[in-house]
Amino acid sequence: MNGPTLHVDLGVLTENLLVVHERVAPAGHMLVVKDDAYGHGLEPVVRTATAAGLGWFGTFDVATALRVRQVSGSAARAFAFLADTPDEIRAALDGGVEVGVGSAAALEDAATVAASTGERVDVHLKVDTGLHRNGVRDEEWASFAARAAELAGGGRIRIRGVWSHLAEASDAEDDRARATFDRACAILSDLGVTGVLRHLAASAAGFARPGFRYDLTRIGAFAYGIRPVDGPGEGALGVNPVARLSAPVVGVAADGVRVAVGALHGLPSSLAGRTSVGTPGGRQRLISVDLCTSTVAHWPGASPGQEVTVFGDPRGGAPSASDQAAAIGTIGEEILLRVNPLVPRMYVR
Ligand SMILES: *Cc1c(COP(=O)(O)O)cnc(C)c1O
Repeated sequence: MNGPTLHVDLGVLTENLLVVHERVAPAGHMLVVKDDAYGHGLEPVVRTATAAGLGWFGTFDVATALRVRQVSGSAARAFAFLADTPDEIRAALDGGVEVGVGSAAALEDAATVAASTGERVDVHLKVDTGLHRNGVRDEEWASFAARAAELAGGGRIRIRGVWSHLAEASDAEDDRARATFDRACAILSDLGVTGVLRHLAASAAGFARPGFRYDLTRIGAFAYGIRPVDGPGEGALGVNPVARLSAPVVGVAADGVRVAVGALHGLPSSLAGRTSVGTPGGRQRLISVDLCTSTVAHWPGASPGQEVTVFGDPRGGAPSASDQAAAIGTIGEEILLRVNPLVPRMYVR
C-alpha cells in the first residue's frame, strides 16, 4: 500500500441504519445515496442497505435511481428528486423509479409521457417551503394540486408522495416551512387525494424534531455517521463514521513524519496547521499538506509503514470528517466528497 485508502465499513452502515430506523419510527426512512452515496460507493451501499431490509432509496437524478434499482431489484423503491426532461421521465417509468415533480411544466411532461405510453407515472409533488431550489410556490400550489388531482383521476399519474426540503438554518424558519407544508397537504386531501406519503425532514430534523417526521424521512449524512459540525456528536446521535481515510508513513524527516496523502488525493491543504490526525503515537498535529504527501508532527517510534488515520475513527482517537471540516469552516460531507475517486476503496463488513 503506497497511497491512501478509504476504508468503508459496511457493518457500521448496517448498525447506523438500525439506529436511524429506531429513531424515526413509526415514520419510515429513505436512504439518500446522492453523490455516489456521499463518496462511499453507490453499489456496495445499496447492496448492504437492501440486505438490511431498507425499503427506500433517494437520489438526485433518474440515472442514479436506475442504477439503484439494478442493485436493489424490486425489493426497494427508488425516488429521484428531479426528472428534468420527458426522456428522463420515460426512463424512470420504464425502470420503476418514482420522480419528484416540482413545477407545472414538469407535471405536464409527466402527463405527456403517460399519454404516449398508456402507463401511469409515479410522482411525488414538491412544494417549495422556502429553500427556493425547486418546488411549487405556496401561492401556486392550489392550482398545481388541482391539475395533479385531475391527471390522477384521469389515470395519467399516481400521486405517491408530497414533499419538500428544509433549509435547516434555524428552528423558526423550519417551523414556518412546516406550516407551509401542512397547508399543501391539506389542499391535496381536500381534493380527495389520499394515501399519499408525506416527507419533509432530512437527518437533522428527522433526528431532533418528531413533528417533522410525517410518514417518511430522507436520511443521508447521519446514516453514514457524518455528524453536523455545530450539532450533537456521534455519541449523542448513536451513529458512527462508516468511512475512514488512512495513509502509510513513507519517511521520517527532521521537520516531521511524511505521510502518503496530499492535496491530489483530496485532502484540503487549508487543514495544514489547523488540525491533527490519528497516529500510533496518538493525535499529532498536521503541519503541512503538499501535493502527494503531508507532514505530521513526530511521535516516538514513528517509522515507515505505520498507518495514520486522516479522518473517520473517533473511537480509535482520530478525528472524524466533521472534526476536520469544523477546522476549516465547512461540513463533514465535503471532506468525504473531496476524496479523489481514484483513491482505492476497501470494503469491510
Ligand atoms: C441531501 C438531501 C437529503 C439528505 O440530507 P442529509 O442532511 O444528508 O440527511 C434529503 N433530501 C434532499 C432533497 C436532499 O437533497
